Amino acid sequence: MMNQIGIKQLARQRIDILFGQAKSIVHANPKLAAMYVLSARKIAMAARIHLPLTFRRETCRACSALFVHGVNCRVRVKQKREPHVVVTCLNCGKQTRYMLRKGARVIE
Ligand SMILES: [Zn+2]
Repeated sequence: MMNQIGIKQLARQRIDILFGQAKSIVHANPKLAAMYVLSARKIAMAARIHLPLTFRRETCRACSALFVHGVNCRVRVKQKREPHVVVTCLNCGKQTRYMLRKGARVIE
């Protein structure tokens, strides 16, 4: 019987593999890449672990699209109120913001 830590490590490995595969295929088949992203998300949920920060920065929360800069996402730096980055998914239109301020929470 596997312990909790073993399951989490295995989940992380599988997420890494899926993310790598999604990246390698995204130009040829963005829909398949989104499916890989979605399965990685499901694994993370089932194992109750956080997705790596790079994963969350490079994928769409709403439609699981893997972002390719200049192709399916728009990245803008805004200075209003607090400096932040707005990433717009051009697949579904969902906007994601994150703060640039020093000491801002990077892990939710
Ligand atoms: Zn999207």
